[in-house]
Amino acid sequence: MAHKSILRENSPYFQRMFSFPGKEVTENKVEIKHADPRIMYWVLEFMYTGAYAPPDGTTVSTEYCNHDRASYKYATASAGGILKKKCPCAGKTTSPNHLLAHIHVYSIADYFGMRTLMAFAQQKVVEVLHVHWQDDKLQLKNALEKAFSNTPEYNRGLRQVLIDVLKAHPGLWVDDGDVRSWLDAHLRVREEVDYA
Ligand SMILES: [Zn+2]
Repeated sequence: MAHKSILRENSPYFQRMFSFPGKEVTENKVEIKHADPRIMYWVLEFMYTGAYAPPDGTTVSTEYCNHDRASYKYATASAGGILKKKCPCAGKTTSPNHLLAHIHVYSIADYFGMRTLMAFAQQKVVEVLHVHWQDDKLQLKNALEKAFSNTPEYNRGLRQVLIDVLKAHPGLWVDDGDVRSWLDAHLRVREEVDYA
């Protein structure tokens, strides 16, 4: 059981819950419906330490960035200097398997009104996608489904990150596949991705 004070400090949701006499207060026990215990563990870890980290993953090299392979494809010899940029994720630990976890944390953070955790999880999603955008282990279709069904439409943060990745890498969706099918079933999102 997490300390009430830290829950209250970190989340307007818990502030409200503990402000009114009710079952939660009298029983000193809070049940979060539908929340995966692992995800709640990371939410609490963030409350106590200001960070959380799913297990495993690899550390990104501090050498030059080679993650945006599309840019190599269209590169000319004179663009060589531009391509030798340092990776914005250098030194970070990422894994394609973390994408869904970070999206879960983001949606729980949204639900609890935890803006700093939302920003943290969103940055993690940016990093995972920067490094692993081509990796099937991302389960990109599931990620889109979770992100767009578990966050409200007015919360643009995570939605925009996913839209930006699809815009940057049309190869992820122009051909038939589960991502393309998902976009075809969500035409308003598809319009944002495929604006041309
Ligand atoms: Zn990079």
